[in-house]
Amino acid sequence: MTEPVISVTDLTRRFGRMTALDSVSLSMPRGAVYGLVGANGAGKTTLIKHILGLLRAQSGSVRIFGLDPVADPVGVLSRIGYLSEENDLPGWMRVDELIRYSRAFYPAWDDDYAEDLRQSFALEPAARIENLSKGQKARAGMLIALSYRPELLVLDEPSSGLDPIVRREIIGAIIRTIAGEGRTVLFSSHLLEEVEQVADHVTMIDRGKIVLSASLDSIRESHRVDGRVPSLDEIFVARVGMPAATESDG
Ligand code: ATP
Repeated sequence: MTEPVISVTDLTRRFGRMTALDSVSLSMPRGAVYGLVGANGAGKTTLIKHILGLLRAQSGSVRIFGLDPVADPVGVLSRIGYLSEENDLPGWMRVDELIRYSRAFYPAWDDDYAEDLRQSFALEPAARIENLSKGQKARAGMLIALSYRPELLVLDEPSSGLDPIVRREIIGAIIRTIAGEGRTVLFSSHLLEEVEQVADHVTMIDRGKIVLSASLDSIRESHRVDGRVPSLDEIFVARVGMPAATESDG
């Protein structure tokens, strides 16, 4: 059997007296889209930080491509595309400079794909990052995260605060990416409707604990009531006792 892309075993993380992750175990084989869902503060970003090697496991272990991301950050990060909620791109750069700057780090950078994305995202080469709208910045971040064809794409709340058109575009881009051979996507969100559109596998996290982790199809089947398949939102509420997103989350 091939090694899982992400393998987390019994990971616990405390910040002072607060337990952000509580004995989390996950195994994510290659070639699928994994949705990580939970309310704000559930522990999604903390888990992603461990996957990226930004936090060291206090107890338990994290292996990405079979490697320890803290001990081998270059070996791991060179194979991961990452887009965060904050999406902190250098504001003073122009779009074309950002593309040239980013491609220099990655031998597998795909110029044609980057240009396709730039055009379909309608990003002007001469536009300064700091002058882009929030939605355009998200598109620029997505362009960079996708253009070196990473083996693992990690998106932490990529659509947070964006309008529905940009969200749909981002989701479309995710699907196009995984359509490429054998790529894996980890996508965190509190907007379950979106996760439902793209994920093959869903992991629900609540107050640092995994409450459900299975293929979307099997989750739907096992929650069927009188022949009706509930939405992922309804399933989340049934499991966790409250919705992942509040009205104000948009
Ligand atoms: P959000 O969508 O709001 O980012 P999340 O599911 O990603 O939520 P985390 O950011 O992982 O949640 O936070 C999990 C818990 O750990 C929260 O209670 C948060 O306040 C706490 N936490 C996270 N990072 C730190 C830190 N550096 N110091 C102290 N507490 C932290």
